[in-house]
Amino acid sequence: MQTRQEALDKLKKSKFRSSFHLNEEEKAYVREKGMDVIEKHARDFIRMRLAPAYIQNDGKQTPLKGHPVFKAMHATACCCRGCLNKWYKVQKGVWMTPEQQDKTVNLIMAWIEEEMK
Ligand SMILES: [Zn+2]
Repeated sequence: MQTRQEALDKLKKSKFRSSFHLNEEEKAYVREKGMDVIEKHARDFIRMRLAPAYIQNDGKQTPLKGHPVFKAMHATACCCRGCLNKWYKVQKGVWMTPEQQDKTVNLIMAWIEEEMK
């Protein structure tokens, strides 16, 4: 099983994934809300948009902008069940386990933390 750092390093090698960065507005939003609140948002987005066994608009459920977590989801290949399956072998067609959801949130938050440095 790959570590969070291994996952982040692998993402950096992808031209597409590494093209996503937080802009100043998004960084200001993160600073204003604080990491705990952002993590709560991430947890909610994952639970509602990714975790269900069946998602009608899978592949299109994550906007490209509008929230720092959305951008982080694209940057970390946690944008849809197709990408989660391809990158992290998360099985499609079944609910994500609480552990899988935790790992996804942790990866997203690690990416945001790096962007905020
Ligand atoms: Zn995707």
